[in-house]
Amino acid sequence: MPELFGKLKNLFNYATKTATIGINNMEHICRVCGLDYGPDNLTWWGDGDASFEICSCCGVEFGIQDTHLMGVRPYRLDWLKRDELWFEPSKKPEQWDVFEQMKNIPEKWW
Ligand SMILES: [Zn+2]
Repeated sequence: MPELFGKLKNLFNYATKTATIGINNMEHICRVCGLDYGPDNLTWWGDGDASFEICSCCGVEFGIQDTHLMGVRPYRLDWLKRDELWFEPSKKPEQWDVFEQMKNIPEKWW
């Protein structure tokens, strides 16, 4: 029996650790503009690798200009100066508010 408990404990630790990594490190919200791609479309994976997709709103490439805060901030300022805020205007939702979207940006990326 103690052996079984040991195995269960290991399994529990593994599950807890995996859940923590997922919550802390997986990202599906653009660090620059706050566009939410949903949990099935990750921008950054838990191991620190990015998807290298292009954000359809601000046009940032995940893993290139959004690796550090010192990259995110200037990119965001340049983005907000553009006349067209959507890199792919066809994907812009009908009722879209840039400031509502920017509320999604995690605090550490401000
Ligand atoms: Zn973006």
